[in-house]
Amino acid sequence: MRRIFFAIPLLMACSSATTDEATVASSSGDTSTTSTGGQGGMSASSASDASSSMSSSTGGASECTLAANTTATDVVNGFGCARLNRDASACLAARTAQGLTGDWLKFSCRVKLTVDTSGATPFVLVEADSRPDYKSNYFETEDACWDDYKVPGKATPNLIMPQTIKTKVPLTPSGGGTDKKTNDAGVAVNGVWIFNDAAAPPDDIYKAVNSFDRCGGHPDPQNGGTYHYHIEPNAISSDDANLVGILRDGYFVYGRRDGDNSLATGLDVNGGHTGTTTHSPMTPVYHYHVVEQTSTTAGTLGQKAWFIAIGKFHGQLLK
Ligand SMILES: [Zn+2]
Ligand SMILES: [Zn+2]
Repeated sequence: MRRIFFAIPLLMACSSATTDEATVASSSGDTSTTSTGGQGGMSASSASDASSSMSSSTGGASECTLAANTTATDVVNGFGCARLNRDASACLAARTAQGLTGDWLKFSCRVKLTVDTSGATPFVLVEADSRPDYKSNYFETEDACWDDYKVPGKATPNLIMPQTIKTKVPLTPSGGGTDKKTNDAGVAVNGVWIFNDAAAPPDDIYKAVNSFDRCGGHPDPQNGGTYHYHIEPNAISSDDANLVGILRDGYFVYGRRDGDNSLATGLDVNGGHTGTTTHSPMTPVYHYHVVEQTSTTAGTLGQKAWFIAIGKFHGQLLK
């Protein structure tokens, strides 16, 4: 089943599905739940047979090459998304040769990291294509990466299309930022854009949650199919302290928890605080966490979701 591809050249903005395009491929054996709370309120559950459901939906003869160098863990969310381990050993030497250390070395090799120290502010050029490293119902059904999951609500109309992410991230971040986080707030460890906690007005991000694939992402319905995250991406982090990615101001963002497995506390309005991290285990540094927020909007009042990028950037962006 092919879906119509909309490529309306509007500003990059996310909305809940605003078209009447609601058909998604469905088949028997779908293990998804239909919680009205969507994925935002999901927490990790124990292993289930959901992963076998994922692998049964090849949609093609070949393997999903985007998933190369990943292995599924037994942490699977209620929608059948397995948290993945990512083997970045193939690009380790190239990264350490550039002086990259710590959590920079956890990024998938699908993400190209280039250090530039030629200017006044050394930066890392982060390049990726914003496609997920797992199967999604938002690939074409003929694609080896297509997954037969049926979203609980309306599907977004676009399919996932490869993008060209090129963003400069300060190697040594500094505070004093004033920019509000936008739809290009950062890049996840697997090279997927991290969007903020808002949908394009008048749409409601809490309704958009019901358009997410099993792992918590969806393609932009208005901007050529840019796959992205708003909420805790369960193929990366499921109620844990895992590295989620880097925001454009150079500060890392982690899951709900700190390294001692306690829920992050004392977060500021931008979702961050200062403490030790896996990147800086001895010296406290500023960092972000995914943050639970509750809808105050009629229609989704009281619904909760764990967003990745809220408020403003703590640090300064490279223009
Ligand atoms: Zn979105
Ligand atoms: Zn923390």
